[in-house]
Amino acid sequence: MTALYGVIGDPIAHSLSPAMHNDAFRALQYDAYYHAFHITPENLETAVKGMKAIGVAGFNVTIPHKTAIMPYLDEIDPLAEAIGAVNTVVRRGGSLIGYNTDGPGFIQAFREESGKDVKTEKVLVIGAGGAAKAIYYSLAKEGAAAIDLCNRNVERAAAIQRANPFSCQSDVLGLKEAETRLGEYTLIVQTTPVGMHPDTEAQPVSLENVKPGTFVSDIIYNPFETKILKEARKRGARTQNGLGMFIYQGAIAFKKWTGINPDTDRMKSIVLDKLGGTLC
Ligand code: NAP
Repeated sequence: MTALYGVIGDPIAHSLSPAMHNDAFRALQYDAYYHAFHITPENLETAVKGMKAIGVAGFNVTIPHKTAIMPYLDEIDPLAEAIGAVNTVVRRGGSLIGYNTDGPGFIQAFREESGKDVKTEKVLVIGAGGAAKAIYYSLAKEGAAAIDLCNRNVERAAAIQRANPFSCQSDVLGLKEAETRLGEYTLIVQTTPVGMHPDTEAQPVSLENVKPGTFVSDIIYNPFETKILKEARKRGARTQNGLGMFIYQGAIAFKKWTGINPDTDRMKSIVLDKLGGTLC
């Protein structure tokens, strides 16, 4: 019988996940189908019960349900529990188990594209929203040498640092202080929506003090090269956009569902094709 997978969100029509996962199933001749389900917040609990009742084998969770879904699951993986958000649900027997593959997806993309290990990195994370928290805790879990967090609202960054269950050296900074200290970091991760389409001329911090050779990652992938990545490249930094993080969060979810590592080059070309462009 064809296994059913999917993604729940509101809105969901724009999701690139169905094309990416359905192609991976086809390539592996794996008898499964991945569907985008438009689920509004008032229907979330019923939808999760329905997924369980009809035997959906696994699904992704996107905005606005990543935190709200947690009480309706049978088990939550410790990293997802710490992050306070689930983006992947796996069915095991009769139970639904929640995971977060966003942070691990970022780390895998960083490893692949930089050829480096996070353990040697002194990191600055810009932003303190859901994505920043997933990346910060995942980096801490993997033993990054130091991780500083800067945000417009400094208290929000401090709250993430205080609740971090993994030990790591870490300072909390305002955006101006971070700008003056940019030269200290080997990896800078931009996690705010600033610079995303359509406001592509915006940039959360100036990169005047970035050192050549620093790895600058922006988790946005629309546009492929944000204003901050353009400035980073001009100043001699190595750059990475958010496409790799998106691909690997999906590839890690796929492995959890099927036990198979999908072909990530193929996933990337499907997503690029959908987005209509080439990587920066
Ligand atoms: P979020 O929870 O709403 O957090 C937004 C963060 O951006 C907050 O720290 C906020 O600061 C900061 N911010 C917003 N506007 C700002 C401005 N004008 N100046 C300075 N800081 C500003 O959002 P999120 O869920 O973390 O998502 C953030 C971005 O990551 C989005 O662009 C999303 O598309 C992208 N993302 C990409 C992937 C991927 O796979 N590549 C995965 C997840 C998310 P305050 O706390 O001061 O308000």
